[in-house]
Amino acid sequence: MYILSGLTLDEIEKITDELHASKFRARQIHNWIYLKSVSSIDEMTDLSVKFREELKKIAVVTNIKIKVKQTSSDGTLKYLLEFPDGECVETVLMRFDNRANLTACVSSQVGCAVNCSFCATGKRGFIRNLTYKEIIEQVLTIQRDTGLKVTNIVFMGQGEPLLNLDNVLKAMKIFNENFQIGARRITVSTAGIIPKIKELANTEMQSTLAISLHAPNHEIRKQIMPVENKYPLPELKQALKNYIDKTGRRITVEYLLIKDLNDTLESAKQLVQYLHDLKCNINLIPYNPTAKNDYQRPSNNSIMRFKSLLEQSGKKVTVRLERGSDIDAACGQLSGKAQGTV
Ligand code: SF4
Repeated sequence: MYILSGLTLDEIEKITDELHASKFRARQIHNWIYLKSVSSIDEMTDLSVKFREELKKIAVVTNIKIKVKQTSSDGTLKYLLEFPDGECVETVLMRFDNRANLTACVSSQVGCAVNCSFCATGKRGFIRNLTYKEIIEQVLTIQRDTGLKVTNIVFMGQGEPLLNLDNVLKAMKIFNENFQIGARRITVSTAGIIPKIKELANTEMQSTLAISLHAPNHEIRKQIMPVENKYPLPELKQALKNYIDKTGRRITVEYLLIKDLNDTLESAKQLVQYLHDLKCNINLIPYNPTAKNDYQRPSNNSIMRFKSLLEQSGKKVTVRLERGSDIDAACGQLSGKAQGTV
């Protein structure tokens, strides 16, 4: 049985060829899938009933299930999606009152091998990569369920996207060509997998690279991100510089603020020094408490003090608006908790 979601126009044409139908039929199906986000072949009402019946014998729109859906008090939606092999991932739709953007935060892997100490997903370990179709299906499911059109994609859900780069790149191409989401509206976030940053730079994609830095020095970083042992800060910086030179793009530096760990004056000074010659914006993310560790969120005063110290360096600094923390959909909280696996 063919699964239509995630197929390119060429791939859909092969199916319509099999049914001895014209290429125009393939274009109609493609539009129903990507622009109108239908859930079933019966909803493709500009295809004849006879053709729909033929198509239903060999294809379905999707084989992904919404296992759990939660709505936050701020309007954020979190889905637990189940694939046919029984594995699940979480996908989040964020909306902001003052912006028209609808941002989907997608997962790239089931579980994650990187094991950052503050992250609920890392606790599960790595289970498997998602295929590019499974990545695309997350956005299609949101669109089908809400009737809304996603405008921005961030690869900040479960998994390390650069450890599944082939599938992430294929998904990005389809987001770009089929969903008509511009590459600049797609952000790929990494914990700092240096060889893959180089590979991504060579693709010359105009997407945004976000680096999860979260620490201003080797000691703190290796404490919270074991990836620092393999890809330490000085080498990471060189890779980021090369990326910026090659793509001409400003990167985003993500910095999780954890009380009394990396929110001190000394940390701010070291961070300014580390970033001084990097073309970047800085995004501060106050830590969202989870039940799995003792880290705490800094006070609002500490957050604003840290922000203003960084701003003195001339960089643009924002504090990320917290979305969905009451349903564990905020940064670092995704874990598949609803499955009872963690
Ligand atoms: S923060 Fe990202 S890279 Fe780190 S363990 Fe969690 S999912 Fe993996």
